[in-house]
Amino acid sequence: MNENIQLSIVIPCHNEDLVLDELHRRVTAAAESAVNTDYEIVLINDGSTDRTWAKIEELCENDIHVVGIDLSRNFGHQIALSAGLEICKGQRILVLDADLQDPPELLPEMMNALDNGADVAYGQRISREGETHLKKVTASLFYRVLWRLTDTKIPLDTGDFRLMSRRVCDHLIAMPEKQRFIRGMVAWLGYKQVPIQYNRRERIAGVSKYPFRKMVSFALDAITSFSVNPIRFSAYLALIFAVTTTGLIIYIILGWLTNTTVPGWASLGVIITSIGAGQFLILSIMGEYIGRIYIESKNRPLFLIKEIKTGNSDPRKSSTQGEG
Ligand code: UDP
Ligand code: MG
Repeated sequence: MNENIQLSIVIPCHNEDLVLDELHRRVTAAAESAVNTDYEIVLINDGSTDRTWAKIEELCENDIHVVGIDLSRNFGHQIALSAGLEICKGQRILVLDADLQDPPELLPEMMNALDNGADVAYGQRISREGETHLKKVTASLFYRVLWRLTDTKIPLDTGDFRLMSRRVCDHLIAMPEKQRFIRGMVAWLGYKQVPIQYNRRERIAGVSKYPFRKMVSFALDAITSFSVNPIRFSAYLALIFAVTTTGLIIYIILGWLTNTTVPGWASLGVIITSIGAGQFLILSIMGEYIGRIYIESKNRPLFLIKEIKTGNSDPRKSSTQGEG
């Protein structure tokens, strides 16, 4: 296969044997209408316990466009996706879920956005069909809490369904962090990113591979990789305790002046609240340092340059990344 493929479609699959045939058919149709035969479909088997890998092998044998990757065990959606991004070769990369909740038919519109200068065209859901009430409420809440907590503006109601340019994919691969919340990392990268709105369909078959437990851990990964603000919680507690201490001291003085104190309890109260304030203060200071260690340890590049403009003979053209 050609080394410089126009389009890669990357799809992580965990126990998806029921959907693979239909997936292959619809993705192939979408890819052909967009780039003729110049595409690859990268299917990552993320430790499935059903016939997913056997099915992928079968597809590989019958279609030269299919590339199968079999991970050694279940690593989780975001890591499986990272594996696919690392292996794929396309100039543009479409990320898709296996269950066809996100329509591959949106590809032409996304290609169009990239033709017009965007680096990322991301699908933004204006509705979700066939999902439980709990899932809709928690998902909606999750994106809004994340939006408030983080400094990176991660678009609301947006999954990993997106088309991106080769340079965005290369930067993603180069980011060494282990907790990978990919939609946030893409938002962090910058460049021109445009939303394409769509209605999210029902899964065509099978059940969601994100039980509540995985959703919680996913949300924790997202929040902790993009914000150290929760650490500041202890600073607020320190403040509350400090205010309480001051209030109590004023109350004691007043009581002392008017001779209405009950001996003993007030001084004890002050001791307890002031120690509380002191402890939370120290905790919050330690937290600030831990937060900084955490940020440093992610080793993200300092900045990314979209373009450098100079006269024609200047050689500084292709530098795109700051030192981490
Ligand atoms: N997935 C995966 N590894 C996992 C869990 C999920 O590769 O451990 C894949 C799954 O096969 C699907 C995508 O991630 O292609 C999204 O999962 P799912 O559709 O079950 O999530 P939901 O749409 O319910 O949030
Ligand atoms: Mg799904």
